[in-house]
Amino acid sequence: MITDPADLLRRRGIQVTAQRLAVLRAVASQPHITADAVGDAVRAEIGAISLQSVYDALGVLVAEGLIRRIQPAGSPARFEDRVGDNHHHLICRTCGRMVDVDCAIGSAPCLAAVDDRGYEIDEAEVVYWGRCPDCVAKCQRSASAPVTTGTRSRSETRARPRPLDGARVKRRNN
Ligand SMILES: [Zn+2]
Ligand SMILES: [Zn+2]
Repeated sequence: MITDPADLLRRRGIQVTAQRLAVLRAVASQPHITADAVGDAVRAEIGAISLQSVYDALGVLVAEGLIRRIQPAGSPARFEDRVGDNHHHLICRTCGRMVDVDCAIGSAPCLAAVDDRGYEIDEAEVVYWGRCPDCVAKCQRSASAPVTTGTRSRSETRARPRPLDGARVKRRNN
């Protein structure tokens, strides 16, 4: 967790700028934030900042290990300041909500690959995909409404991605 952001940058030998501080604060205040949302937060705090400057600042902070970048499949990159504890993530397929979950085994044992094949490993990533409680509840509510086609059983536990909305819309128009 970040206590004094300016101090943190100085200790790492990173030049302290208003933009970097604001970016760091945005990431600290909203775990798993996207670069776009960082831009919005920074703009609200210190005024205009280009998305490129946001990416530059995020890049410096990631390179220095002050924040961590997560890139889930099919989602924009997310950033968080909870670093160095090898925690994992739960991601909802329906609404995209991402939450932390502690490593299943311990502090950082997932980094120890059974066979590293000569790679110098610095990160192991575990993502649990599924649906968040809100989305499951929402689906159960709509499932309790009368269904006319009704041969299929409820699909709450299905782990496969659903077809894209665009594809479904197209079919409906035909
Ligand atoms: Zn959800
Ligand atoms: Zn996290």
